[in-house]
Amino acid sequence: MAFTLPDLPYDYNALEPHIDEETMRLHHDKHHATYTTNLNNAIAGTHWDEHNHSIEEILQSLDQFPADKQTVVRNNGGGFLNHADFWTSMSPNGGGEPTGDLADAINAAFGSFDAFKEAFSKAGVGRFGSGWAWLVAGTDGTVSISSSPNQDTPVMDGKSPILGVDVWEHAYYKKYGPARADYIKAWWNVVDWDAIGKRYADAPRG
Ligand code: MN
Repeated sequence: MAFTLPDLPYDYNALEPHIDEETMRLHHDKHHATYTTNLNNAIAGTHWDEHNHSIEEILQSLDQFPADKQTVVRNNGGGFLNHADFWTSMSPNGGGEPTGDLADAINAAFGSFDAFKEAFSKAGVGRFGSGWAWLVAGTDGTVSISSSPNQDTPVMDGKSPILGVDVWEHAYYKKYGPARADYIKAWWNVVDWDAIGKRYADAPRG
């Protein structure tokens, strides 16, 4: 069974003015759609496809694919999952701050929400070229920041990212040009902390 491009959970213009409608149309309908198609083409006819393995299982088993398929599955499988999670990390009613256990974990790790935002933004701005910055939940309940190139995800290492920001130019260039820091600054206004708090609560604990 092939993977399906998920619909956006809001209108293309719902995240305006922080993320513009044209960017959302291209990002979802072209970029995410292409990752989905290329992933499906790469796994078609394999047991991963026939047995309906999850995208997480596939990304944690890249070394089991033929050598000539590993890169295409890595890039497009990562792109498929990362974008599916990215859309549901954002909401027109987003912004503000996390609450409850996630707020406590962020404060414990970084000292304050503002200090967390600064460190996370720095990870995104500092990622050379294309990639993502992540907030990852550990099995001990702690949270940490990392970043990855291309469409790589901490999921590939068996970890549990609960929030990621896409810092590929396709995510921001139409509105922000090369000003990646301005895009990330605006992006905080659409982060859906209720959704991220649920991911934190659902992340596996050791
Ligand atoms: Mn993207």
